[in-house]
Amino acid sequence: MVTPAAVSEDLPAKYEVVIGLEVHVQLLTASKIFCSCSTQFGNPPNTNVCPVCLGMPGALPVLNRKAVEFATLAAMALECRINEVSIFARKNYFYPDLPKGYQISQYDKPLAEFGAIEIDLKGSKKKIGITRLHLEEDAGKSLHEGFADSAAKTAVDLNRTGVPLAEIVSEPDMRSPEEAYEYLTRLKEIILYTGVSDCNMEEGSLRCDANISVRPRGQKEFGTKTEVKNVNSFRFVKQALQYEIERHIGIIEAGDRITQETRLYNANEGRTYGMRSKEQAHDYRYFPEPDLLPLVVDAKWQSKIRLMLPELPEARRQRMIKEYGISAGDAHTLTLTRSLADEFESAARAAKNPKRVANLVQSELLGRLKEQNLELEQSPISMAGVTASADLVESGVISGKMLKDLYDLCFERKQDFLPVYEAEGRPEQSHDTSALEKLADELMAANPKQVEQYRAGKKTMIGFFVGQVMKASKGQANPQLVNEVLARKLEG
Ligand code: ADP
Ligand code: MG
Ligand code: ZN
Repeated sequence: MVTPAAVSEDLPAKYEVVIGLEVHVQLLTASKIFCSCSTQFGNPPNTNVCPVCLGMPGALPVLNRKAVEFATLAAMALECRINEVSIFARKNYFYPDLPKGYQISQYDKPLAEFGAIEIDLKGSKKKIGITRLHLEEDAGKSLHEGFADSAAKTAVDLNRTGVPLAEIVSEPDMRSPEEAYEYLTRLKEIILYTGVSDCNMEEGSLRCDANISVRPRGQKEFGTKTEVKNVNSFRFVKQALQYEIERHIGIIEAGDRITQETRLYNANEGRTYGMRSKEQAHDYRYFPEPDLLPLVVDAKWQSKIRLMLPELPEARRQRMIKEYGISAGDAHTLTLTRSLADEFESAARAAKNPKRVANLVQSELLGRLKEQNLELEQSPISMAGVTASADLVESGVISGKMLKDLYDLCFERKQDFLPVYEAEGRPEQSHDTSALEKLADELMAANPKQVEQYRAGKKTMIGFFVGQVMKASKGQANPQLVNEVLARKLEG
């Protein structure tokens, strides 16, 4: 076999990469999909179980209404068409973490189809199709201890068995690991906005299987694909795909054929390993689940669910750019989570100048939170505090430098802005112009050429002097005042 290192630099140009992703997200219901057991993560093993999720003979599943609503809401957010009638099916296979010997899933009639996610790579936009979104139950978890030594043991925890999942299958529309990464980022963002999953990858609430093939550019048929299973971070998905691309090309260049198989990614070694080939692939012998009626989500229920749909991240960014006059980059940062966007908007709407709030939140608040490893929810400065401080700067009462100092005090004392501002005796910046005038005179004397240029009509030259004065005052001066004084002086 040719190792990736043997693939020369220019070969990738000969080939086109094709990627399709299957993503599982655990839905945030309190109870499981077919029984009333808790879905709580991290409880002692095998305590969230009952005859239904343990697969005892004769136990019957009862569908969780909330799981249907959450999956439907996610499907709507992903622009899917909801099928009024969908069918649960048994997917039969044996595995120790699957006590029933089958998983209840959906097969030829899924809950939703024909969706899309728009991705944006350096400004070029592209729609990635979503083939389907269906509901299914999660399996349990095998825990391997002392792996590869003689005392190796495997234990099984069935707490996860029956936790509701939405499986989201993409079309093979992606053409690079970067596109796959972007798709996953957008998908997660959208799901988080709907609130139907916490998408916590460490806890396995979001899991991704990546399918990849390569074909000579211009060829119509897809190449043979391999599937990399259960990679637990988006960065690793990207790396695993990169590895697979080089492996595929190496094999094809050597005149061999790709074996269709499932592979595992080892992040420590940065490579994938074959797990099972197509010949060993399961024949799941799907058939309709006899213990459950067809699922009907009729127009009335659909419109009720649609009312729960929040404004989605991309639409929100566009609106915020227009409404507050902020940049695309600002809008991007400020919508990273729904709660951040909510908080920002509540502050921006109350403030004199929303743009100043956008700057403040990003440069002064998020930076300090990150430094101290705090979540937004743990911020000592509330959004009302941000608004108040932004307005004080806006109206010239305090300077930018003073605001920074006050924010530092807030974080030190773990107190909100207004109490700290009060405790400091409502400081005000100096509006004394005599010091500024002196500074302006000195600067103008030292830079006669710039003064001349200004007086000859190059009015933008005032920026040079403002910058110098601000620097000399270490940011303490009020920019508005500085401008006034300088304009007056320069006009002569
Ligand atoms: P399987 O039956 O092997 O699971 P599916 O047709 O259900 O295959 O597709 C599973 C995923 O693999 C989908 O996301 C799909 O877009 C993707 N896929 C299918 N064929 C290819 C291919 N040749 N190359 C890359 N991805 C593919
Ligand atoms: Mg599949
Ligand atoms: Zn149960």
